[in-house]
Amino acid sequence: MKYISTRGNNQKITSAEAIIKGLADDGGLFVPEEMPKVDMDFIEGLRNLSYQERAVMVLKQFLTDYTQEDLEGCVERAYGNGKFDNKDIAPVKALKDVSVLELWHGPTSAFKDMALQLLPQLLSTALGKTGEKNEVVILVATSGDTGKAALEGFRDVPQTKIMVFYPDNGVSRIQRLQMVTQKGGNVSVIAVKGNFDDAQSGVKAIFSNQGIKAQLMEKGVSLSSANSINWGRLVPQIVYYFSAYADLLNKDRIKAGDKISFVVPTGNFGDILAGYYAMAMGLPVNKLVCASNSNNVLTDFLTTGIYDRNRAFYKTISPSMDILISSNLERLLYHITGDANKVAGWMQQLAEEGCYNVGPEVLDKIKAVFAADWSDDEATGKQIADEYSKEKYVADPHTAVAWRAAEKASGIGETVVVSTASPYKFNESVLNALGHDINGKDEFTLLDELARVNTDGIPAGLAGLKGADILHSRVVDKNEMKNVVFDFSINTKQ
Ligand SMILES: *Cc1c(COP(=O)(O)O)cnc(C)c1O
Repeated sequence: MKYISTRGNNQKITSAEAIIKGLADDGGLFVPEEMPKVDMDFIEGLRNLSYQERAVMVLKQFLTDYTQEDLEGCVERAYGNGKFDNKDIAPVKALKDVSVLELWHGPTSAFKDMALQLLPQLLSTALGKTGEKNEVVILVATSGDTGKAALEGFRDVPQTKIMVFYPDNGVSRIQRLQMVTQKGGNVSVIAVKGNFDDAQSGVKAIFSNQGIKAQLMEKGVSLSSANSINWGRLVPQIVYYFSAYADLLNKDRIKAGDKISFVVPTGNFGDILAGYYAMAMGLPVNKLVCASNSNNVLTDFLTTGIYDRNRAFYKTISPSMDILISSNLERLLYHITGDANKVAGWMQQLAEEGCYNVGPEVLDKIKAVFAADWSDDEATGKQIADEYSKEKYVADPHTAVAWRAAEKASGIGETVVVSTASPYKFNESVLNALGHDINGKDEFTLLDELARVNTDGIPAGLAGLKGADILHSRVVDKNEMKNVVFDFSINTKQ
């Protein structure tokens, strides 16, 4: 199977090449040329398999240039070795009204691990397959979660190094601790004086600096990013939609062929798009419900067909969804229309005017699959309290946004709420919602306090931060970032 750009240049490449390149030369995103199809026998065949085995079955539909052994190795290194604290990797908890698909049992306690544990393995294998000799240096600017998940995923992966920049004053204490205690022989973590935009614009400037890229190329180094538009980050997420369906069959919650709905807390549209791929492949899906916080640009788009990012930006208690440009939507528009020229036009309008309108025909096709809803912080907090009193389930704010959308939706059948973060990761907002007094308490006190209400214990990755050695303490000015990247790329050999 070959991969093509959503914007229609005539590049056709393998999945390994698409994972190395990240973005197509015309600025588009790589998509599979055709949709692989599976039947109910395939899905029933997943029932008695481990998550790792299910992953290989699904991944090989798309990554046809990887061998069975390649995929088994990648999946084992990503999800094996006790890196996840639940043997089911992505367990489904069947509750009274809904089931909850928990995607946060990985090393950093949030759903980014599902993709960022596997992407580095797929990339490292791709380098071997394509004969690429350069070392790849991954640069990440982070406002918190992605940086840590990328560090854990890339640590000690052959032929790669990773450097993460975070804003000196822009991450929570736990997030900072998670990063500055990061172990691994190929990692570097640097604080940038300023806010997230300073860190991000610094990284972007390095990516578009042809001079430094050429100098690094001479030294055998390529720069790359781990952001959510890479095909290697999307494809791992398709697996858990199939896995959840197989688990619901095993729990007798549904019968083979029954259609189910997924409600997904959405930011960049990567997670929910993976659900769309699963459905397009043949998974019986009724609706995919896109749940947003007050940054409800997607709710508006999915109900009116008008995408308009010209609006106020809100900082919410579900910060991983505080996004106004959902990059992966581009892939959906391509699959729905099959028209790369149209997609390129809309993306140009988005870049120039911040707005585009797909019109009624395209909107109808989208609405046949997707529904949308949103919650503000107050409603989200109330949802956390309600689910705790009704189900004794402690949900994080992102999950609560989805849960509320699931409750408000009608006629969508058996429903899976996709849970994207451990409540411990957002302990302050969760405890606040549950009516605890959080004033003046430090992060570790809050973790302990939450452990007294939650049946699940504190995840090892968070508990272990107390007293962990600080391994990265460098703080730089934005204008020093280029030199820091250069020195790290050519000096510290693995
Ligand atoms: C990234 C993230 C999301 C949003 O996922 P997208 O793929 O960007 O839509 C939701 N919840 C949490 C906790 C996240 O980290």
